[in-house]
Amino acid sequence: MRPEIKSLVELQSVDMRLAELRASLEALPKQLAETEKQLIDARQNLASAKEALKTSTKDRKTFEMDVEAWKEKARKYRDQSLAVKTNDAYKALQHEIQYAETEVAQAEDRLLERMVAGEDFDRQIKAAEQAIVGVERMALASRQEIKAKQTALQQELAAKQAERQQKIAAVPEELYKVYERVAGRRNHIGVAAVREEACTLCGVRIRPHVFQELRREDCTDIFQCETCTRILYYVEPEPAAAPGGPAESANVRANGISTDGASATNV
Ligand SMILES: [Zn+2]
Repeated sequence: MRPEIKSLVELQSVDMRLAELRASLEALPKQLAETEKQLIDARQNLASAKEALKTSTKDRKTFEMDVEAWKEKARKYRDQSLAVKTNDAYKALQHEIQYAETEVAQAEDRLLERMVAGEDFDRQIKAAEQAIVGVERMALASRQEIKAKQTALQQELAAKQAERQQKIAAVPEELYKVYERVAGRRNHIGVAAVREEACTLCGVRIRPHVFQELRREDCTDIFQCETCTRILYYVEPEPAAAPGGPAESANVRANGISTDGASATNV
């Protein structure tokens, strides 16, 4: 492979890693926000359970007063019924007593229901408090993990940026300009290997004379794919290739981007 193309392919490999690193770094604030949201949700659950208990306790006091008030009324009517002179008046009071006793029973039912609900809310509060402890522990670990990841990514980014400068120095200026222009439009990928007379990224067939030129070691022209515009370079068929070499692994990486087929249609 021509040395400047080899350098370009190496630059491509660095640029792809840089793009991955930047994407990973950009994703971190979202991860952090998700962690914080879990914490907010857990605290909100506790606040809701506490509020529910407060309301329930207030209702319970109201129902307790209702029970006492209706009991008091029934007692009063019973006392009055001992003193009445007429049958009708006695009957009327009996009716009132019955009514008051029904109200007592209903108020007692409501009270009992609130007492049971209160126990439920107590359990919910305890569960929510325990959940917060768990979520806080997880959030702490998650924050540390994200911070460590960020530091590692930033370190690698700085190293790769320095490496990029070295790679650029080995690429002729004109070639670099074309690469930058194509990579900027083509998902950070400016070069494409040619295998079996086709662009490995968009799949379009290469014209025979271009293919012949690409195969020549002394070829100095820059050929771009007619469809995806990427700078083309020839790759020897597998048996003749040096497996695991730096250029070869860069090819593998570049070819690993297989989602590019769609872009071939929108040049
Ligand atoms: Zn192409």
